[in-house]
Amino acid sequence: MPPPLPRAIRWIVGAHEMPTILDGATIAAAIKQEVAEEVRALAARGVRPGLAAVLVGNVAASEIYVRNKVLACEELGIYSELITPPAEITTAAMLDLVSALNSRDDIDGILIQLPLPAHVDAKALLDAVAPEKDVDGFHPINAGRLQAGRQALAPCTPAGVIEILKRNNLPIAGKHAVVVGRSDIVGKPVAMLLLHENATVTICHSKTRNLAEITRQADILVAAIGRPGFITPDMVTPGATLIDVGINRLNTREEFDLFFKGNAKREATFLKRGSTIVGDIHPKAFELAGAYTPVPGGVGLLTIAMLMANTVRAAKMRRGI
Ligand code: NDP
Repeated sequence: MPPPLPRAIRWIVGAHEMPTILDGATIAAAIKQEVAEEVRALAARGVRPGLAAVLVGNVAASEIYVRNKVLACEELGIYSELITPPAEITTAAMLDLVSALNSRDDIDGILIQLPLPAHVDAKALLDAVAPEKDVDGFHPINAGRLQAGRQALAPCTPAGVIEILKRNNLPIAGKHAVVVGRSDIVGKPVAMLLLHENATVTICHSKTRNLAEITRQADILVAAIGRPGFITPDMVTPGATLIDVGINRLNTREEFDLFFKGNAKREATFLKRGSTIVGDIHPKAFELAGAYTPVPGGVGLLTIAMLMANTVRAAKMRRGI
C-alpha cells in the first residue's frame, strides 16, 4: 500500500463544500520519488533499469510524448535509449528491431510509441515485444494476466487512475464504478483494475442504451471516450468522483467558447498557445463532483510516472528481485 498523500485541494466556501481537485502533479511527483529510491537501491546491487523507446517517423505529438518519457528516465536514473526509424520502415524491419531489444540484457522495458504509420502492422509488433519487457502493458499475455489477477505489467494510464484514487484515500471497494469507453489500452484495463479493487463495475460504450441513466448511478465515473466534454452535468450524480482520462485539443474560438467562455485563465492559455485541451467530461459537470481529476493536470500526468514504475518493476521481475 502506498502511503496516503492527500495533498488534494479542498476549498470550503461558506456552507458549500467545493469539489476536491485530484491533483495529478502531486501524485506523479510522489511516485517518481519512490521510483528514484528504487533505482538507487538497484544501483547498489549493480542493476540499472533500462528503457528503449521506439519512435517511428515524425509525428509531432509523439515526439513530445517520447521526449518527456526519455527526460523522466534521465531524472530518475533509468537508462534510456531512443530509437527513431524512418516512417518508411517495414513491419519486417521493425520486428527485427524488437527482437534485438528483446534479447538485450540492459533493456528492461520496450516502448513502441503509437500511432505507427498505417503500413506497419501494429498488432504484430506489440505481440512481438517480450511480455516481461512490455512496460506499456499492451501484450495479450499481460492483458490475460491482468484479467486473471496474476502478476502483470498493467497499462500505465489505467494504473495511474487507481493510484489517484488510492493516494487520495477515496474508497473503491463496494462502490459502483462506471467506465465509459472499452478500448484495450484504457477502458478495459481500468475496469479490470477497479474490479480487482472490489468495485462493482459497469462498462459502457458507443452501443450502450440509456447511457445517462447508467452514468448517474456511478459513485466513480471514469471517462475514456475521446470526445470533448461528452459527459455533461445531467449525466452525473452530485458528489460522485469523476476521473477524466480524455485529452481533446480545442483549436478554434468556437470550440473554446463551447467549454470555457468567460474563463479568463483558460482564455490566456488559449491566446498564448493557439489551443487548449479539454477532457471527456464537461467542465460544468466537475462543479457537481465530490472529487475530480482536472484536464490538464490530472490523469495525464500519471502516465509517465507509471511507465517509470513499470520499467523498474520489469527490471526487478526479470531478475527475480
Ligand atoms: P478509443 O477511441 O480507443 O476508445 C474510445 C471508447 O469510447 C470506445 O470504447 C468507444 O466505444 C467509446 N465511445 C465513443 N463514442 C461513444 C459514445 N457516444 N458513447 C459511449 N461511448 C463512446 O480511445 P482511447 O481509449 O484510446 O482514449 C480515450 C481518451 O483518453 C482519448 O481522449 C485519449 O486521448 C485519452 N487518453 C489519455 C491518456 C493519458 O495519458 N491521459 C492515455 C490514453 C488515452 P466503442 O468501443 O463502442 O467504439
